[in-house]
Amino acid sequence: MNRSFQPSWFNKFSWLHYDVTLDSAYCFTCCKAFKQGKVRLTGVAESAFTINGFTNWKDATKAFTKHGASSLHMQAVDSLKSEVDVGEMLSSQHAKEKRDHRDYLFQVLSAIRYSLTNFTLNFFNAFKSFAHENYNA
Ligand SMILES: [Zn+2]
Repeated sequence: MNRSFQPSWFNKFSWLHYDVTLDSAYCFTCCKAFKQGKVRLTGVAESAFTINGFTNWKDATKAFTKHGASSLHMQAVDSLKSEVDVGEMLSSQHAKEKRDHRDYLFQVLSAIRYSLTNFTLNFFNAFKSFAHENYNA
């Protein structure tokens, strides 16, 4: 039996949010959906994880499991899904940009290396013809 909030609960419930100053637990997903007006609260039980804060630690895991399966929570997860997709899109766009930058950098580096090689070759050839003209004639 628990008399206080257990950090290990975070591992079991990904949506769990704990407010240290209020010593209350909330549902991150439902709070967000509620603040954005995407879900409506219809009962006291639903308000526990959104407005009031949950503090009944001894029945916590049972209540968390129940909340995770509640229609409010499902609705909140669903309503925020499109947002997650946009986030993923942005991050994949970001990854592409990073890749492009890396390709560009690689091209610049190759160009520099090419110029250096060219310069060395030119220098060598110039030296060779100079040596040829002056000492090998
Ligand atoms: Zn929830």
